[in-house]
Amino acid sequence: MGSLGYDDTPIIPGTPWHVHDGTRPQPPVVAPGTESSQEKAGAPPSDAVALFDGTSLAGWVGGDGQPAKWKVEDGYMEVVPGTGNIQTVEHFGDCQLHVEWRAPSVAKGESQGRGNSGVFLMAQYETQVLDCYENPTYPDGTTGAIYGQYPPLANACRAPGEWQVYDILWEGPRFEGASCVKPAYVTVILNGVVLHNHVELMGNTSHRVLTDYIAHPPTGPLMLQDHGDLVRFRNIWYRPLKGYDEG
Ligand code: MG
Repeated sequence: MGSLGYDDTPIIPGTPWHVHDGTRPQPPVVAPGTESSQEKAGAPPSDAVALFDGTSLAGWVGGDGQPAKWKVEDGYMEVVPGTGNIQTVEHFGDCQLHVEWRAPSVAKGESQGRGNSGVFLMAQYETQVLDCYENPTYPDGTTGAIYGQYPPLANACRAPGEWQVYDILWEGPRFEGASCVKPAYVTVILNGVVLHNHVELMGNTSHRVLTDYIAHPPTGPLMLQDHGDLVRFRNIWYRPLKGYDEG
């Protein structure tokens, strides 16, 4: 018997492990990150993959594959309108994603025209970025909406000019040939408030039409949207989502 547990207990179905099995792999030690404040981005957990550390857009490209043309300043990146969406060179799959963003402090425009950007998993599944602080718009386009599919369960926007924090759990779709055999699931938390709880996506993000899945690999880049507004981003990182015994 492992000194930490038991070997005379039933096997947990679907696993090779006994109940309370002392030989089951220990969870890896991860040093937690630090909280961000309005003034300063926190530090990622010790095993996170940093996608933007506040100093450069190395690792980001435009849709044409050329270096990203957004501005980097004081620890954040900012959309340069007209230069287009940018995306990571790195491709990744199921993950815990952390993104902080900030709409302009002087609110301009209304509805979809105020602080619009977007966080696109795999470059095609958008969690909406928008300044919806006292700014109504169509619900499935609100801040944190799965655009065109699901309104968020809450409007948890901070005021314009304040940093907002997304924590997103992403399970990408799986395909066999052209058919989707497992849809994507997403959980979205904005500023500590759950907006979506493991919701099943209907397909990729589209505008004014019904969506569907189009087959793609199990990994893809993270894309941020140039919607013409001066939205800033900082402290972007992910951790791969692993199974229980994958270490
Ligand atoms: Mg958008």
